[in-house]
Amino acid sequence: MSTYTIVALPGDGIGPEVTESALAVTRAALAAHGGVDLEVDEHEASAQLWQRTGVALPDETLEASREAHAILMGAIGLPEARHPDGREVNGDVILKLRFELDLYAGIRPIRSFPGVATPLASGEPIDYVIVRENIEGLLASNGTNIREEVASDTLIVTRTGTRKVSEMAYRLAERRAGKRTVACVDKSNAIAAYAFFRRVFDEVAAGHPEVRPDYVYVDAMTAYQVLNPQRFDVVVTENLFGDIISDLGAATVGGLGLAASGDVGDDHGMFQPSHGSAPDIAGRGTANPIATILSAGMMMDWLGRQHDDDAAVEIGRNIDQAVVKVLADGSVRTPDLGGSASSAEVTAAVIAALD
Ligand code: ATP
Ligand code: MG
Repeated sequence: MSTYTIVALPGDGIGPEVTESALAVTRAALAAHGGVDLEVDEHEASAQLWQRTGVALPDETLEASREAHAILMGAIGLPEARHPDGREVNGDVILKLRFELDLYAGIRPIRSFPGVATPLASGEPIDYVIVRENIEGLLASNGTNIREEVASDTLIVTRTGTRKVSEMAYRLAERRAGKRTVACVDKSNAIAAYAFFRRVFDEVAAGHPEVRPDYVYVDAMTAYQVLNPQRFDVVVTENLFGDIISDLGAATVGGLGLAASGDVGDDHGMFQPSHGSAPDIAGRGTANPIATILSAGMMMDWLGRQHDDDAAVEIGRNIDQAVVKVLADGSVRTPDLGGSASSAEVTAAVIAALD
């Protein structure tokens, strides 16, 4: 029996509701399979906590997160919780955890589900993964300079950071055994730091002859994501570009309620839905829990691969396939997907669909 310690950070708004759903599904999948146990420790980190105490991420939560095998996060942030300069408090938690735990890659699967309409007319299946550099690029946030007449930020691209995230993208393409391509998305035709990103990407490509490198400028990328997303398998890109193309990607496959994500490094992993705390629907029991359930499935898969534990990988697969079945069946859906089911009904349907 392997036991993993998970820190749960339910957060704000709908965060606690969707975290509870994801944990219920995960526990049911563990019980169905056996061989793997989770010890779940809930900790506080939230905009609400910041409003009460002035601290969004207590040291004790940070240290527990560092010690845990993985982190499952709901959603952090409230529109009114902002620093005097306008920055939202969710950065105090999410960015700090990314930096402190060296979660250098943001993994964002962009994947259509049978039975869920997409806004793209072709209706062709979509299945690619964006690997976003998570801690440098234009969002490293240490280069801001605002004076009366000018403001500037610094775009930082390092060899080490670009190598690590490119290696992660290539390993993912090898494992997925899909088209076996990694597309480097940049603006190397106009900005030197992106040309450097591409050069380092090419150095990494040389070590993975089985995977074909592909090159796409970020402006063209947005067009391909709409017109021919089937071109892509794994995509690797700089921080800000990754932020933007992930939202576009999520919109092409059915929206925020289904978009899972993982922030991972060599030793730590944090999993959360791509959506925010949606305070407009909090407390009503109608939030779509599927993005968080899929994120919990990614967490089990990641734990399994980190610890060479096939049982955990299998539990991740079971969670994922149960969601696919519920979506394909179509009868139990929350209002964001056009249904009238509650979060609890969707959670129960996913549990019933587990092998
Ligand atoms: P953030 O700044 O944290 O990304 P945001 O302002 O972009 O947050 P979200 O909280 O992600 O916004 O949500 C935008 C809207 O989408 C919400 O107001 C809500 O109506 C809807 N929404 C988001 N997540 C869900 C969900 N899981 N289920 C149903 N509706 C959702
Ligand atoms: Mg947002």
